[in-house]
Amino acid sequence: MAEAETNRIVIVGGGAAGMTAAIVAARQGTAVTVIERMSRVGKKLLATGNGRCNLTNMYQGIEKYHGSNPQFVLGALERFNVKQALAFFEELGIEPVIEENGYVYPASGQASSVLDVLRYEMERLGVKVFCDTRINRIEMGEKGFRCIGADGRAYTADRVIVAAGGKSSPNLGSNGSGFKIAEEIGHTVHKPFPALVQIRLDAPYLKRLSGIRIQGRAECRIDDVVAGCERGELLFTDYGISGIPILQLSRPVSEHAGSGRKMSLHLDLFPDWTDKDLAARIARRISFNPQKPLQMSFVGLLHKRLIAAILQESGFDNARSACGELNQQEIQHIAGLMKNWPLRCTGVQSWMFSQVTAGGVDVAEVNPGTMESKIIPGLYFAGEVLDIDGDCGGYNLQWAWSSGYVAGMNAAGC
Ligand SMILES: Cc1cc2nc3c(=O)[nH]c(=O)nc-3n(C[C@H](O)[C@H](O)[C@H](O)COP(=O)(O)OP(=O)(O)OC[C@H]3O[C@@H](n4cnc5c(N)ncnc54)[C@H](O)[C@@H]3O)c2cc1C
Repeated sequence: MAEAETNRIVIVGGGAAGMTAAIVAARQGTAVTVIERMSRVGKKLLATGNGRCNLTNMYQGIEKYHGSNPQFVLGALERFNVKQALAFFEELGIEPVIEENGYVYPASGQASSVLDVLRYEMERLGVKVFCDTRINRIEMGEKGFRCIGADGRAYTADRVIVAAGGKSSPNLGSNGSGFKIAEEIGHTVHKPFPALVQIRLDAPYLKRLSGIRIQGRAECRIDDVVAGCERGELLFTDYGISGIPILQLSRPVSEHAGSGRKMSLHLDLFPDWTDKDLAARIARRISFNPQKPLQMSFVGLLHKRLIAAILQESGFDNARSACGELNQQEIQHIAGLMKNWPLRCTGVQSWMFSQVTAGGVDVAEVNPGTMESKIIPGLYFAGEVLDIDGDCGGYNLQWAWSSGYVAGMNAAGC
């Protein structure tokens, strides 16, 4: 087996966490090599925030992070918080713009600008980058670590940072190989499952609803217990439902998919009105023209293609009957369904569509203040490879920057 380079630090994975770690370690005067399996570093960054890169969020809180021990994030977030991340990026050239709900984007509106400044800084600092190079395993030798590439080359290092990401969107690089590497070297990996992903529903009229967007509220229930509730734009698709609120609610559905547990979404199509308000509005509409066919009487209140689905669900199949035939109880029943429309969840879309991976390297085996393995001194972890995932809104990238920073600093001996 050929010996390639000898470096102080080798970083497996040139994503958000790996590049941050490389920059902070190189700034300490350490020789750093980044090994990336794709043809270039940071491919996933280009896809973030719909191409705009929602790089962090001003409103941080432990409740925004998930995993077997979300408290673990505090170690890194306290050492490299949002303010420090923004200062880091401003120094690199990224002018931050804060939008609704504390979402932060680069003023350029381009995710590529975030990648450009990170790459430029790595180049300026003399970080070596090997692309199209996949690390298969890490071995411990007498002189430190040997990262063994798929081509048989060995990259020797005093310290190694595993920043190989999770399993989400494997077309952008992270295919779960970081978990395999971690397990083979002795770490526990909590079973990964896709998060921030669209939800699959079981309903006969889905194909007819596909493409409809509404402003609503969705509540997720597992075995009839509320697991989360979100409000915003909901998008019906031919397999189920999408939109930011749905991505936020997908974690428990994904976690329990296939377990036989009862999983449902309850949609409120008029979150600003009470059941009583809505029933009164429907009654008023009916009073204007009681002869109108039932289906027609909802036109202007509800998206046309949703009317048939709601009437079908309410048991009023004869949509041609006059709306004036509805009694008060029936009006309340229809209004109640529009306020609480239960839909059975069958699971979530595949890894290819998920934005983040839940599960990963057990954080109980990693020092939260340094990101160093408690099992193998000199081995560090950063980013999504760890059993931490965040909500939509910039939390996953903040975790990548913070954990990358802490791993880089400590691997460099600072
Ligand atoms: C479509 C999409 C949009 C998103 N938008 C946002 C957003 O706006 N805001 C936000 O906060 N988060 C967003 N995320 C999530 C965020 O991008 C990730 O959480 C973050 O990039 C994780 O960083 P990472 O460095 O840990 O992993 P990654 O970015 O996945 O990087 C890991 C790198 O390691 C490489 N690699 C893997 N295995 C090996 C190996 N064996 N050898 C060598 N290299 C390897 C991969 O090719 C990859 O480049 C989005 C994700 C997706 C998919």
